[in-house]
Amino acid sequence: MYVINMWLDRVSDPVARSMWMIGSTSFAMIKPDAVQAGKVGAILARVQEAGFEIRALRMVRLSRVEAEAFYAVHQGRPFYAELVAFMCSGRAVAMVLEKADAVAAWRLAIGATDPAEAAPGTIRKLFAESKGRNAVHGSDSDETAAREVAFFFPERELALLDGPVAG
Ligand code: UDP
Ligand code: MG
Repeated sequence: MYVINMWLDRVSDPVARSMWMIGSTSFAMIKPDAVQAGKVGAILARVQEAGFEIRALRMVRLSRVEAEAFYAVHQGRPFYAELVAFMCSGRAVAMVLEKADAVAAWRLAIGATDPAEAAPGTIRKLFAESKGRNAVHGSDSDETAAREVAFFFPERELALLDGPVAG
């Protein structure tokens, strides 16, 4: 019992949880173009067929301020304004994915940013409309993944998903 309690404490401890997640977690998003085109189901099927476990998932609608913050790293780039407008143009699906070496594995599954350059069979090759409207997002490093997961999923929500039966 003591061991079980210790384990539960660790699962719900934010620092321990995020330590466990490093390396095996990527943030992913189905972008508004793919949601609008009715591709959520097809993309989720590929996520699971590719061996990712969906640890958390939520449909979201970004405000302009949130889209600006999410893509703050691209501020000043020529495509930034268009990217922000696109990302808050409709619903998106935010996800936490788990797999060994998740960041690299998810980027491999989605393919290059521009679908014209994406490998055959990748999600962007199959579902993206253009370099801007490219169906899905993937984190670019473990650090970014942790930041992006926290951007969309409060620690409490993640802990609840993995925690003991709620009372
Ligand atoms: N993007 C764009 N034009 C570009 C580069 C990027 O519209 O020339 C958009 C595209 O939606 C991309 C996002 O900005 O997914 C973020 O760019 P990044 O270079 O981080 O590509 P990603 O990591 O998504 O492959
Ligand atoms: Mg990127």
